[in-house]
Amino acid sequence: MTNTRTTDVEATVRQIKTLEKIGADIVRISVPTMDAAEAFRHIREQTSMPLVADIHFDYRIALRVAEYGVNCLRINPGNIGSKQRIRSVVDVARDKNISIRIGVNGGSLERDLQEKYGEMTAEGLVESAMRHVDILERLKFDQFKVSVKASDVFVTVDSYNQLASRIDQPLHLGITEAGGARSGAVKSAVGLGLLLSEGIGDTLRISLAADPVEEIKVGFDILKSLRIRSRGVNFIACPTCSRQEFDVINTVNTLEQRLEDIVVPMDVSIIGCVVNGPGEAEASHIGVAGSNRGSAYYDEGKRQKERFDNDKLIDQLETKIRAKAAMLDKKNRINIKDEVNMKKLHTRT
Ligand code: SF4
Repeated sequence: MTNTRTTDVEATVRQIKTLEKIGADIVRISVPTMDAAEAFRHIREQTSMPLVADIHFDYRIALRVAEYGVNCLRINPGNIGSKQRIRSVVDVARDKNISIRIGVNGGSLERDLQEKYGEMTAEGLVESAMRHVDILERLKFDQFKVSVKASDVFVTVDSYNQLASRIDQPLHLGITEAGGARSGAVKSAVGLGLLLSEGIGDTLRISLAADPVEEIKVGFDILKSLRIRSRGVNFIACPTCSRQEFDVINTVNTLEQRLEDIVVPMDVSIIGCVVNGPGEAEASHIGVAGSNRGSAYYDEGKRQKERFDNDKLIDQLETKIRAKAAMLDKKNRINIKDEVNMKKLHTRT
């Protein structure tokens, strides 16, 4: 989600492009006013990224951004007001093939549900979500997804589990107001990991009090660790101890930054000594195992004669990883081309 002022079109477009570059599939933008809706029009013109407009209460803003090419409206139909207003938003969404996200959030649960349940509960969040779902279903609109986010991991997981058993629509996952970069990432990984490992969840957003770039990175790391999506280099690194023969931590941190532009999925193991180095390297595209005679270098699990100079290891490793990424990329392209040719052949015969 962008955190620029939406009325600052230039800054918002710049941030969307940055998020796109590091792998975001969808970007959400707050549209709190009509001025922001007008800015949205210019933002839309400058990016093909699927955009979700985050709107609260004012149905006119939803109608306006629908005219300007929004892909999804995050708006809760029960909060829009009269039936006529709800219908006008749903009609325009249907006409323009725009999806709606119902977004229930623990911090803004309806007062009557707060009183009914006394505290934040999964039952309260799900009851709130189902009120909005019922409105859309009565209007025979099914192109919606739902989120039920709480800042508590257990309440969030319980809510999504309950919701998944009640509706067939996609679920958008998130732990809301998860916290700072580190604690928020951990909370999100635990909560979303539990859900995703059960097959629950279709889109996700990591909410961090940090640069949105971090949100995307954490999201990808969660998906990578569950082997749901892979993009870029997956580093396997040891925690280090006195046996390490080179500075593993600095090597990994430096390479993570230098290799952010690589999108081809590949595993690289960076291990400080021969205790675990050869074993991890065997399962990686590129591997290095620390040694005081120059670190051993593995390609596709096979030990190479060449050794890395421990003082120049970062540069040497970067060169090898880039070459391997280019090779894997070429291989992928050839496979895709072969697949297309095979399809053509089958359609001809
Ligand atoms: Fe220590 Fe070697 Fe284990 Fe790394 S792999 S933590 S250097 S024993």
